[in-house]
Amino acid sequence: MEKLQNKVALVTGASRGIGAAIAKRFAREGASVALTYQTSKDKAEQVAQEIRQLGGKAIALRADGADPQAVISAVDKTVQEFGGLHILVNNAGIAFYHDISQLTLEDFDHMMAVNVRAVFAASQAAIKYLGDGGRIINIGSCQAERMPDPGGSLYAMSKSALVGLTKGMARDLGSRGITVNVIHPGPIDTDMNPASGPTSAYQRSLMALSDFGTANDIAALATYLAGPESAYMTGSGLTIDGGTNS
Ligand code: NDP
Repeated sequence: MEKLQNKVALVTGASRGIGAAIAKRFAREGASVALTYQTSKDKAEQVAQEIRQLGGKAIALRADGADPQAVISAVDKTVQEFGGLHILVNNAGIAFYHDISQLTLEDFDHMMAVNVRAVFAASQAAIKYLGDGGRIINIGSCQAERMPDPGGSLYAMSKSALVGLTKGMARDLGSRGITVNVIHPGPIDTDMNPASGPTSAYQRSLMALSDFGTANDIAALATYLAGPESAYMTGSGLTIDGGTNS
């Protein structure tokens, strides 16, 4: 049986990678899906088209996470298109690594704007529509808990901020039956972190398991959090990292 029948989901940053896998999996589980992108219009349209070809409903919306109004408008457009909203996945994110001495205030602001402020803006816009059984799923990182490499101060900070935002929102929204959780992926083979990249051997050396995870691994966990079986889970962080932080 489809787990997300009659649900409407908005997945940010779903033109490729983890977001695209979540959007496709949610659609397979019966949800209508709006997906956002920053620049990859063709790829986002392709994901939406793939979903429609399989009989699902999907739209692609341009919304730069650095622009809160664009993010808010994507939430409103989702509701206009599909008549409601039940699940928000705040997945869109950026990563860059530089020594603290080289980072600028602009770097700080940009990292926080895309990885944190957009999550706040989207969530605040979404709660106007989410009712009992509503779901907010944030995509963090195992580096929120442990940063094994130099250069990751801003990225780790932004993902740690999502832990606090998740816990606080869970408290605010629990009485309305809305759950808020954060998934902390480890090395997942995407454009952001290709399994054949220059640091992939090093990343493998940190794992308990032997290889990178796939975007579908994260989509499976997101599907659990989006569905009825996770109803009693809120304010939680779920690490899925091949044992990187173990
Ligand atoms: P990718 O770089 O492969 O894909 C990023 C997605 O986010 C794309 O759809 C991209 O859109 C979108 N995006 C990027 N910047 C913006 C922006 N400013 N506004 C709106 N959308 C944007 O990343 P992943 O799939 O690997 O990562 C997804 C999430 O998972 C991120 O939050 C990341 O931090 C997190 N994560 C990933 C890990 C990994 O190993 N891959 C590990 C831990 C966490 P477009 O195509 O238009 O650029």
